Amino acid sequence: MRYEHVYQSIFHPALLNRLQDPIRDVHELDAFPGSNSELGKMRFHNINLEKLGLKDYLKNSNNVSVEDSSEMLVDAHCHAYGFSIEELKKYKSIEMISVSEDLESSLKSIRISEEFSNIKPFIGLHPWKVPETPRSEVERLMKLCDSEEVIGLGEVGLDGRMGRSYGRQKEVFEKFCEIASEYDLPMNLHALDAWRDVLEILRKHDVEKAILHWYSGPIDLLEEIFDNEYMITVNPSVRIQRRHRKVLEEARMDMILTESDGPYQYRGLNLTPEMIPDLVRFIAEAKALSSEVVEEIISKNFRSFLR
Ligand SMILES: [Zn+2]
Ligand SMILES: [Zn+2]
Repeated sequence: MRYEHVYQSIFHPALLNRLQDPIRDVHELDAFPGSNSELGKMRFHNINLEKLGLKDYLKNSNNVSVEDSSEMLVDAHCHAYGFSIEELKKYKSIEMISVSEDLESSLKSIRISEEFSNIKPFIGLHPWKVPETPRSEVERLMKLCDSEEVIGLGEVGLDGRMGRSYGRQKEVFEKFCEIASEYDLPMNLHALDAWRDVLEILRKHDVEKAILHWYSGPIDLLEEIFDNEYMITVNPSVRIQRRHRKVLEEARMDMILTESDGPYQYRGLNLTPEMIPDLVRFIAEAKALSSEVVEEIISKNFRSFLR
């Protein structure tokens, strides 16, 4: 494989234009598949590969090329049951996790996953729904976790802005964590203004795989999230939400997934899976990578999350 192809497929054209002699620089770095060099120590024109989360990606990737950009797009947190069948047909080329908010939507997520192979059903009880949900329904949901169709739990978690019900939220969330740990199920979490608590509870129950969705929490927690091999999702709101954009800038590529959280209206944005291609472009620009490489890394992250 030619080096030009490799770096053209990895780095954003705007960045390549800034290099004086990219071919020579790339050779000197020797930072590409098949080389035994210590990538972590290298800097590619102020780009620290390790910090970007690209180190392992480059080491393990023997097929990085422009032609290999046929990865499926990923919507790792979507309330797919909220769309019509006609709409879902339009999203067939996107791998989706359909998170659920209560028993009814959990059953719907399972039902649509039988019709659409790109939809992975997660079942759960959204923290906003916890106060109004009778214990008997919580019990039924927990029993449902046992069924074969269920491949993960979500949307569950805590919302720190709902002070009064926080205790009950915690109680329910801990039960879901116990189940996730026991059945080895990945979790898709809502942790708004409760980021540290959620992380602590996940660890307490030895939950192995988790996504903190639409992460807009403290930057210093990112490292801890990564060390636990958990991931975060980036939402299209990153274009207008400053805190979220800061997260994108600081997070490593190997802990990022894309999501829409659709159908949802957020400050004038109509969030649907249709926004994912634009989101990929935005991430590519922010990370000075090509869209193809962002797609490829996210697809790889997604596979390892569901493994
Ligand atoms: Zn949420
Ligand atoms: Zn959601």
